[in-house]
Amino acid sequence: MMPDDEVDYEALMTGAERVLDGVDGALDRLADHTYGTCETCGTPIAEDRLAATPLVATCERHLPLGERQASRPGETVG
Ligand SMILES: [Zn+2]
Repeated sequence: MMPDDEVDYEALMTGAERVLDGVDGALDRLADHTYGTCETCGTPIAEDRLAATPLVATCERHLPLGERQASRPGETVG
């Protein structure tokens, strides 16, 4: 826990900017009619995945490494 006067606003802003980037990208894809498809391979993104993470831009195979998590324990990945 950080004291109130040492809130890392810069880190908060970085996080906020990342979210805004995601929104921006999603709006671009909506305008391009590519929303809901992987921006890397064009595969339609699973509906439940879009519902959970509406700003996602790639299919599970092409997730950026940082976003790749063990979301389903027991599932073997490639
Ligand atoms: Zn893909």
